[in-house]
Amino acid sequence: MGLFLPGLIRRKRDGAALTTDEIREVIRAYTAAEFPDYQMSALLMAVLFKGLNPEELAAWTDAMLHSGAVLDHSHVPGRKVDKHSTGGVGDKISLALAPAVAACGVPVPMISGRGLGHTGGTLDKLESIPGFTVDLSAERSRDLLARLGLFLGGQTADLAPADRKLYALRDVTGTVESIPLIASSIMSKKLAEGIDGLVLDVKVGAGAFMRDLDRARELARTLISIGEAAGVRTRALLTNMDRPLGRAVGNALEVREALAVLGGGGPPDTVELTCELGAEMLVLGGATDDLEDGRKMLRAALADGSARDRFAALIEAQGGDPEVCRDPSRLPTAAHRAPVLAPRAGYVAAIAPREVAQSALEVGAGRRTKEDAIDPATGVELAVVPGDPVDAGEPLAHLHHNGANAGTARELLAGAFDIADEPPPPAPLIIERI
Ligand code: URA
Repeated sequence: MGLFLPGLIRRKRDGAALTTDEIREVIRAYTAAEFPDYQMSALLMAVLFKGLNPEELAAWTDAMLHSGAVLDHSHVPGRKVDKHSTGGVGDKISLALAPAVAACGVPVPMISGRGLGHTGGTLDKLESIPGFTVDLSAERSRDLLARLGLFLGGQTADLAPADRKLYALRDVTGTVESIPLIASSIMSKKLAEGIDGLVLDVKVGAGAFMRDLDRARELARTLISIGEAAGVRTRALLTNMDRPLGRAVGNALEVREALAVLGGGGPPDTVELTCELGAEMLVLGGATDDLEDGRKMLRAALADGSARDRFAALIEAQGGDPEVCRDPSRLPTAAHRAPVLAPRAGYVAAIAPREVAQSALEVGAGRRTKEDAIDPATGVELAVVPGDPVDAGEPLAHLHHNGANAGTARELLAGAFDIADEPPPPAPLIIERI
């Protein structure tokens, strides 16, 4: 099909709908580098302003999904289920969730991402475990899924290559914040995993990409409609990202916290979210038809060590040191642990997630450019959570650093805390279930 791109861009700009064939051809030709970035940028901007109708969105997602390989896990019996988070601060949920769900009998083929903007990525966290590799061939992932009921890998070059190219272009052309473009980007990768069910953790609030509830809800509904149209049972939880999740922000620190959850402990919010998302996964995977039963199964797997044993087996199978599960001191540790102190007595009214993330990034826990190396040992450990009473001079947090940018990071971290005379009203973690 010969495309006349200037005309097609103009039509989208003026609000017309593109045909399925046109969309398929645009995505194919762009992935094959048959037309330049500037034309795709103009089309993306037109989509950002005019949106995509349901047929266009289905065609756009399908074209991206089929731009590369689609995994087939039919060699493993049972319904395969994954979880995806739209990104937050301190979100280490996948680390404990995937082995806990697998230990309850539902296979989890999990392909994760790296940090994006101010948010952390599961792959970077996993790589803080000495030796752990996230580069898995299709054959190796198939073998892990069959033997252990899970794998935790990165996106391979042949999985949704159209999204890889489009994402990089959107990142530098002001076209990230479009619900159809975000939804098709996420779902093209998830549907390529060969899953039967998907649970989405759509973050809402100051530390999320979607700050307001209406847009988060619209994103969740769009993601669900794409999943269900493709035959993948899809559920979403809208969850609170007005504060960091748990107490640790930074790669090895977050692995330590996930290990605490796998040891039957850990911060209450992190345990709650693990069990809520996990219960949805167990229902979608057919292990139970009752959410409350699913929560109990997960709590049991966390308490009896079976989830931690599964994680240790996975770490070993992916080349890492499984002893970290029994002895977290084998994880990288920063040279310094510097306190940030309360300037006055009162209650912790708020902890701004972006400031905490920025502070962790300053000391090396995140990247400023794609090429930056991460320092896995660095980050922030909160000593308090919203609602806690504090005395003047009491530690609010500790900055784990190796010297670089520690002064700036401490200032940023100090600015993240709001101390007030009254405790804040309680904020629910699970805002809505869709
Ligand atoms: N995550 C993705 O994978 N794609 C987006 O567009 C935004 C977040």
